[in-house]
Amino acid sequence: MSNPYRRLPAISELLQAPEIVQLAKNFPHDFIADVLRSEIEHLRQSISKNTIQESEISTQGILERSIPRIVQAVHPRIRTVINATGIVLHTNLGRSPMHETAARAAYDAARSYVNLELDLATGERSSRQNPIRAGICRLTGAEAATAVNNCAAATILALKVLAADKEVIVSRGQLIEIGGRFRIPEIMGVSGAVLREIGTTNITRPSDYETAIGPKTGAIMRIHASNYRIRGFTKSVSIEELVAIGRRFQIPVIDDVGSGAVDGLDDLGYRDEPTIAAGIRAGADLVLFSADKLLGGPQAGIIAGRRDHIQAIENNPLMRAFRLDKMALAALEATLQLHADRARAFQDLPTLRMLSLPIEVLRRRADEFAEQLRRIPGLKSVTIVEEETYIGGGSLPDVAIPSVVIAIAVNDCSEEEFASRMRRGQPAVVGRVKAQRFLIDLRTVFESQESDLFNAIQSAASGSH
Ligand SMILES: *Cc1c(COP(=O)(O)O)cnc(C)c1O
Repeated sequence: MSNPYRRLPAISELLQAPEIVQLAKNFPHDFIADVLRSEIEHLRQSISKNTIQESEISTQGILERSIPRIVQAVHPRIRTVINATGIVLHTNLGRSPMHETAARAAYDAARSYVNLELDLATGERSSRQNPIRAGICRLTGAEAATAVNNCAAATILALKVLAADKEVIVSRGQLIEIGGRFRIPEIMGVSGAVLREIGTTNITRPSDYETAIGPKTGAIMRIHASNYRIRGFTKSVSIEELVAIGRRFQIPVIDDVGSGAVDGLDDLGYRDEPTIAAGIRAGADLVLFSADKLLGGPQAGIIAGRRDHIQAIENNPLMRAFRLDKMALAALEATLQLHADRARAFQDLPTLRMLSLPIEVLRRRADEFAEQLRRIPGLKSVTIVEEETYIGGGSLPDVAIPSVVIAIAVNDCSEEEFASRMRRGQPAVVGRVKAQRFLIDLRTVFESQESDLFNAIQSAASGSH
């Protein structure tokens, strides 16, 4: 018997195999060597435990097991995904896809030095917020504005600056959890404001606010109940009425509109979403909203409103913790510029374009795509179904948008298994599962992704993925 250990190839030998030499062009040498070493170590242990035949030890076998491990480990964990759910603002899928110009601005900023805090005209230090102020003011009608990491950060800062150690009056109908542990009462706690709940879940009247106002009051806050609705016997106080009360008692009013609807969405049938301009028009002291929801920009939280409040917010030490980086600022500036022309914004910004996609166009695309899919062997049925979808991202929770989807059933494979294959495919595809079918809503699939989507379905149907 020869010594089985001696059959194990040396690392240096494996590193010279043509497949490995090829891989080493793209992957770090040390990393490759580590994987090979661990494979050899595994074989040594198998030999010592007598769980391996000597004949099983081969250089080819070692390479075949190691190469996928090397490729897998350096494959990015964040990948582009085809969103076939029809949910335009899908928080788990990164909310808004950005416009090409905004994405390019972020890319350019990432790869270079930029004048982030330098006024090129004077050579003086400047605020990183300057480039985005005018765009927000134009959109909201506010006299001043600033931007932070997200709307949660905007809320904390606004409360901290206007109402630390003071009471903030909020209707019980608006004490919401948005998700991801963002609960209004807890955010208040973090900011140092004291929550003063008023009214009831379904009914809050102006007098509830008036009675609660006292020497300890710091602010009145309205929070858009973003992900649920109270229906039936309900009453709430409009932002106009809140502003009137605030003025009378000289109490600032903060309006958290969350999704940041722009004017013009209501013409498309998306009513009841408070617009960012309406808050300022009504006279709210501060309006807060997310930039990666209906605005269609990068993740950011916008604070727009009175100049003195904005200045105080920027002077707060927390601003440093919540500030945006150069890539988000560049993308936000570009997105705001795209909004300057309303008609073009609805045509060009992916989020608004998807939301305004006419159902007939969607139906035509679905019909054509389904026709192609019917040629794939392994698909039991491909049908067109009338469905509903939602905007997502906490916007318009009970406004179902009519949609047309492609429903797929697969031979010898459950819809859950098929969905799993689609998620694990290349590219990954996320769809919906309903009534034993895998649903594909093309509203959120870019036309440029259709051939990839087709290939992904073909692979998943054949079981190879
Ligand atoms: C989405 C939302 C938030 C949280 O915004 P982020 O930007 O995700 O932090 C806060 N308030 C409302 C009303 C929202 O809809």
